[in-house]
Amino acid sequence: MPNHSTSENAAISPQQEVARLAEMRAVHGAFLYLHNQEMEFRRWQMELAAVPAPPFGEAARSQWLRLRFLALGLHDVHVDELGNVFGQLYPESTAPVLAISAHIDTVFPADTPFVFQEQGTRLLGPGISDNASGVVAMMAVASALRQSDLRLSGNVVFIGNVGEEGEGNLRGMRHIFADDRWSNVLHRLLVIDGAGTDTYVNQALGSKRFEITFRGPGGHSWSDFGTPNPILFLCRALARFSETTVPENPRTTFNIGVVRGGTSVNSIPETASARVDLRSASKEELDKLETRLRSAVSGAHKEGLLQFRNAGKGISVDIESIGDRPAAQLSKDARMLQVIRAVDAHLGIHSLPRLASTDANIPLSLGREAITIGAGGDGGGAHTLREWFDCSHRDLGLKRILLALLALTGVNE
Ligand SMILES: [Zn+2]
Repeated sequence: MPNHSTSENAAISPQQEVARLAEMRAVHGAFLYLHNQEMEFRRWQMELAAVPAPPFGEAARSQWLRLRFLALGLHDVHVDELGNVFGQLYPESTAPVLAISAHIDTVFPADTPFVFQEQGTRLLGPGISDNASGVVAMMAVASALRQSDLRLSGNVVFIGNVGEEGEGNLRGMRHIFADDRWSNVLHRLLVIDGAGTDTYVNQALGSKRFEITFRGPGGHSWSDFGTPNPILFLCRALARFSETTVPENPRTTFNIGVVRGGTSVNSIPETASARVDLRSASKEELDKLETRLRSAVSGAHKEGLLQFRNAGKGISVDIESIGDRPAAQLSKDARMLQVIRAVDAHLGIHSLPRLASTDANIPLSLGREAITIGAGGDGGGAHTLREWFDCSHRDLGLKRILLALLALTGVNE
């Protein structure tokens, strides 16, 4: 590739670069294409959303996207061992300078009634917005680039990744950044997640999730009275932990979401467990909260052992990690942040920074640049069967993604 790219030229501000790009005839052509293809994008979205993609069961959707990437004419199209789908704008010989990703998994089990409706510009059904709209936006931009004669100064890799939702625990993105092939070259990632144009996520909300389980011998409520009861140990631990105070800034929260244990009213239970969710914008606060949880559990364990004296020795406890998303943030002078702001100013979008947990958590925690934005249009009811996406003005979101991508890769005159 020739390297007269101006994108990283310190003499040119992101504002000037965006203005220069927006004047180019080929960029106008790409904008027109994004506007005119709306009905096609709608068909892609309805078709994609109807392919089930529960956490750890994304294979069918990976294959659907692989075929689409091939049809778009992307290069080196392949699916990795987890189900992440890759396609490059230019042949493999040119290392990508930018990745654009959208998660393909949903929260819905495979036996969900996948019923979709089209009411005017509104599409309805599970997963239609989160993240069928994001995957379609990525495909739309790839398609616009393939149709145009824009010559980018750097290669772009398009990624449909698995494992973003819930217990997926960002496994798709984690895997990509653990793979030398990608981790050595991917310094910038643009994540498309959900609908809209009014925000950009520049802070990665961290979370840690644990399952705490107390186990004992159990027994009959009458004849084994005095045998230590795991439910009492657990209650004591949770009561201790619930007294924790957390800062408002950086915002830090905790929740006990699930409690299980026991079999019948006249049995001393053998196990009692709870699932706890800790969140913070700050890595340090999140670590502190984890320490606090661990000490509440071990304190309650010791206290219970004293109460039950010798019999208490039969009680054990373990704390299992069931989720870990690193907290981090995009540096204020990161080029990606400047570019998104310049693009939004150019397009007249009044966007606000947001704190959220997305695929960008992984690269951000590794010190890379990453930002999450929406796919355009409007959406709601995420993670419910009444989810909706409104296609009106989708092209504003698509232009935003395209302009940001061009400003980050550079375009040859
Ligand atoms: Zn999502």
